[in-house]
Amino acid sequence: MIQDIFPHRFNNQYLANQRMNEADWVFHFRGNELLVKIEGNTVVLPQRKDFPELSEQTPATFLFQLNERSCFLITNLRENSQEGLEYKDMSFFRTIDQPEVAWVAVAAFQLKNWYALNKFCGQCGSPTKHKTDERALMCPACKTVFFPKISPAIIVAILSNDKILLARNASFTGNRFALIAGYVDVGETIEQAVRREIKEEVGLSVTNIRYYDSQPWPLSGSLMIGFIAEADEEQPIVIDNKEIVEAGWFSRGNLPNHPNTSSIAGELIARFERGELLSQSFCPTEEQMR
Ligand SMILES: [Zn+2]
Repeated sequence: MIQDIFPHRFNNQYLANQRMNEADWVFHFRGNELLVKIEGNTVVLPQRKDFPELSEQTPATFLFQLNERSCFLITNLRENSQEGLEYKDMSFFRTIDQPEVAWVAVAAFQLKNWYALNKFCGQCGSPTKHKTDERALMCPACKTVFFPKISPAIIVAILSNDKILLARNASFTGNRFALIAGYVDVGETIEQAVRREIKEEVGLSVTNIRYYDSQPWPLSGSLMIGFIAEADEEQPIVIDNKEIVEAGWFSRGNLPNHPNTSSIAGELIARFERGELLSQSFCPTEEQMR
């Protein structure tokens, strides 16, 4: 999955007083684009030394560390002042073969968005300030503290015997199918969210809901909480025709276009395809066990 970058090391401990060194990574965004160096097929993160215009006075926000090297967010840069650097649309993270770069790029993107959305206090409108002891913003006037916003969302592989339910979301491009997913609503448990989303989107009742794994998904500021559930495939599938435009049961070896294993959805589908995800009521044949 996208956060699995071993042997590289990601450390999100907030080091408020970290000073920027020449070799530290610098993240600067322009909308949905990140300023990077392109060397052949490789995306290289720029370093402090690539920005002669930066000084001790330039506001820089510590983000996290990659391989013990600090990563900083810079919001104020002069346009076109960085020779050899270019803005690249964030979608590059899906195609590059450098998992550690893809991961820190999306993690930085989430923090950039959060800082941008919280420049002012939602309570009294005063400009916020960085807290010095933790990753948070504080309003100096009314003392409200703002922490990074993370939205829990469930994602569920629904199984029936040797089939998996896949659905096509109205927003997907390229005839792509994935799993049922949705945000946890106010006042509900994650298990209730699983039942509600499945009922709303495909009209099925499920049993045997079990936790699988979780995954931070910084692009939408979500924490994806993965589940496996089972349904009787004799039930009619009733799609909502809003979020979901097509859904059906699929067998191994016969799956439609679906996400890759950078997402928890892709990993669950890949595990189903390999025969590692079976409904508890299903007894695999010897061939399926191989
Ligand atoms: Zn305030």
